[in-house]
Amino acid sequence: MLSENLFVISAPSGTGKTTIIKKLTKIRKDIFIPISYTTRNPRPGEIDKKDYNFLTHGAFQEMIRDEALVEHAEVYGNFYGTSYEAIINGLNNEPKVLLEIDCQGAKIIKRKFEFAKLIFIMPPSLNELNQRIMHRGQDSCQSIEIRQSQAKSEMAQWKNFDYALINKDSDQCLEEVLSIIDDLNQDHVTSNPSVMAKMEDAIKTKLY
Ligand code: 5GP
Repeated sequence: MLSENLFVISAPSGTGKTTIIKKLTKIRKDIFIPISYTTRNPRPGEIDKKDYNFLTHGAFQEMIRDEALVEHAEVYGNFYGTSYEAIINGLNNEPKVLLEIDCQGAKIIKRKFEFAKLIFIMPPSLNELNQRIMHRGQDSCQSIEIRQSQAKSEMAQWKNFDYALINKDSDQCLEEVLSIIDDLNQDHVTSNPSVMAKMEDAIKTKLY
């Protein structure tokens, strides 16, 4: 029988999710994170089959045709997807499985695996998110524009998640994520009025 220890983390681009996940992988070997497939070009320092499985568009389309992907989505002009093989292997053999994917993918995972727990990480404010996207020096001008124009609508996605928390400090945020993964800590459930108020405040912050 498949384990039901499946978690999904999503966040708008620039929220600091990758930093949190990197810290998590260093301290928790019992949490398995499948490596996604993408058509995006590797960034400097990224390694094929470690950061992503980097594919051509043709090879990605072939995976879709072969129904090898449990979910896939177009994000900022590139395709990303998670394979059935990775997720099922993880649920069969690993204590916990964590997917780091976008909000569209998270919705599909919840449809296919109802027991999955969806966690949303919110930046402290829209203003700060836009600053982070601009200054992290990873993306082309075009990609920065796309990511900034989608930031607000991405922030509004928190409502589709089971848990939501704000990343003011990556260590604290990681601790909170782990308290959900390990103990299903209810302090961050999205039906909690104080969580709702915090999320709406973060979105309302003026851009300039
Ligand atoms: P980046 O290009 O910054 O690495 O990732 C862009 C977005 O794609 C992030 O929100 C990331 O979570 C998402 N992403 C990464 N892998 C997957 C995946 O397998 N499926 C989906 N739907 N999104 C993914």
